[in-house]
Amino acid sequence: MRPMGTSLFFLAVLAATPLPSASQRHEVPRVVVLGVDGLGAGNVWRGTHNGVAPPAVPNIDSLMKSGASSLRARIDPLNFSGPNWMGMLTGSLSSEHGVDSNDCTQGRKLPTIFDVLHRAFERNTLALVYEWDRIGCYVGPAIASLRRQTSSEQETADAAIAAIADARVAFVFVHFDRLDAAGHDHGGHSIQYKDRIESIDRQIGRVRDAIAATARAASTFIILTSDHGHKPDGGGHASSDAPVPFVVTGPGVTPGVIDADIRNNQLAPLVAHIFGVAPSPEWSARLAPFDVVVKPYR
Ligand SMILES: [Zn+2]
Repeated sequence: MRPMGTSLFFLAVLAATPLPSASQRHEVPRVVVLGVDGLGAGNVWRGTHNGVAPPAVPNIDSLMKSGASSLRARIDPLNFSGPNWMGMLTGSLSSEHGVDSNDCTQGRKLPTIFDVLHRAFERNTLALVYEWDRIGCYVGPAIASLRRQTSSEQETADAAIAAIADARVAFVFVHFDRLDAAGHDHGGHSIQYKDRIESIDRQIGRVRDAIAATARAASTFIILTSDHGHKPDGGGHASSDAPVPFVVTGPGVTPGVIDADIRNNQLAPLVAHIFGVAPSPEWSARLAPFDVVVKPYR
């Protein structure tokens, strides 16, 4: 979305950021991925289920309103975390990346989005904040110079905010894990699950406020998605047919509902597209329709 005319928009960007050097004609954008484990689009969220009213999620709502979004994004044919997070990181399906369990040591080592960005940018521009240790394992030990494992959504948001405060950081991948536990223990239509979504939404609001306070606010993209949903009353994950949300917002994003069929593993090619770097030839996930609704930042 470009709320201002193009020329005004560029003036605002120039005013807010240091002038690029001759070798760096275009400002590098910033992308913040907010990954919420276990956030099913069909769980208690957009409607009342089992008498539990939807949670108040003003921050996710506002991301959806200002961005391009879908509540029908498909997941991997395997309906659990390892195959899906690895799929999002490597723009591929579990049948391709080979992670068909939550064991992070298995699988073909396809390049992750961190590997691809590392080829284009310095290590000190990449940040990884995660609650589930496998995420750190999937990305690998050395790729992000700012790297933090956390144990609560408050701590996760604190670490994300610290990364955002570092002007060098261009890519921040954030993983919130605790909603998944609420889904396992109580189900995706439970009060406990609803409360956890509200808690994560508050932390997402803190991260958004921190982004808005930086000089790079006008060049920051936010992407929110998930790995799977939960069965209504506990008993595990929703099936692989159950969709998850996918939201992208930032300069040049056309706001509205994405009608096309999309999958959460399009995250990797989308991030590469925003940065204007080539996706890995080993990724099968396509970019379309994001090439239409999201312009690479220039
Ligand atoms: Zn789970």
